Amino acid sequence: MDLNTISDIAFPETRDEVWPLLDGDAVMAGGTWLMSEPQVHLLRLIDLNGLGWEPYVIRDEGLQLGATCTIETISGLSRSDALLDNWCAAPLLHQCCTALLQSFKIWKTATIGGNLSLAFPAGAMVSLAAGLDGVVTIWTGDGGEYQSSVIDFVTGPAENIMGTHDVLRSVLFPAAAMRSRTAYRKIALSPLGRSGAVILGRRYTDADGGGLTLTVSGATDRPHDLPFGDVPTQAELDHALDERIPPQSWYTDCHGAADWRRAVTGVLAHEIREELA
Ligand SMILES: Cc1cc2nc3c(=O)[nH]c(=O)nc-3n(C[C@H](O)[C@H](O)[C@H](O)COP(=O)(O)OP(=O)(O)OC[C@H]3O[C@@H](n4cnc5c(N)ncnc54)[C@H](O)[C@@H]3O)c2cc1C
Repeated sequence: MDLNTISDIAFPETRDEVWPLLDGDAVMAGGTWLMSEPQVHLLRLIDLNGLGWEPYVIRDEGLQLGATCTIETISGLSRSDALLDNWCAAPLLHQCCTALLQSFKIWKTATIGGNLSLAFPAGAMVSLAAGLDGVVTIWTGDGGEYQSSVIDFVTGPAENIMGTHDVLRSVLFPAAAMRSRTAYRKIALSPLGRSGAVILGRRYTDADGGGLTLTVSGATDRPHDLPFGDVPTQAELDHALDERIPPQSWYTDCHGAADWRRAVTGVLAHEIREELA
């Protein structure tokens, strides 16, 4: 879509050149959402791709993805020997990429940073990053930065903790989460529809504490973690779903009603509990 109010596009190559950001400015990563609907309040786009951020870096602490890393690259990491040799969670990267409704254009250009910044309930990268204990690093205009868990980063549908002119720089999936055994379930009202619920599980190695954590996303207005010291019983899992997810968090939109989402989440969560037992 043509964005007729845009009169300038900036291509910063260093951090200092990104700011100052003014009213009417928007940073752009893949541009797949920005170009998909009218943005009459915007006058200038700041393309982040010239900053040359590494798409991913494999560190002792875990897997760090640059905010401009594309869905296609994240999916490809699931087949990378560098990940598969050390990290059981590698297949989850591709699985979560398939939870995004997308054309090949979105597959090739949409970024994890754009998806996290939008913070939609159906945000597949929100599911992935929350489900791997992701920690985001955010740059501020005064040269500073801060970190947040992805669970705390998303505060509601299309809401996150970033200030107006903050820029999401990267997300780290800690090594303990990458070493964990994972399980993935997604359901949508139609085969290619946006996600109605995405439920992820991770079972940490004994050396990492051996616990099991479920992440509920897609079904709720923001992602929720349900950590258990060990594999929960059916009753413990049902209790946690009722007690730890506020009733008002179950989400209704054209991709599913709240009561349906609550019901299918229960079914899928039990499947994950059995798979990771
Ligand atoms: C047909 C279609 C289907 C879609 N399906 C889905 C879906 O199923 N689930 C879903 O979640 N989304 C969906 N989207 C929305 C969108 O395409 C994706 O969320 C995509 O991942 C956005 O990434 P992007 O890099 O293209 O973001 P952009 O379009 O570049 O930016 C999106 C927003 O995030 C901001 N932003 C981008 N990067 C940063 C950053 N590093 N720091 C701070 N702010 C930033 C931008 O200013 C803008 O407000 C769909 C879009 C279309 C057109």
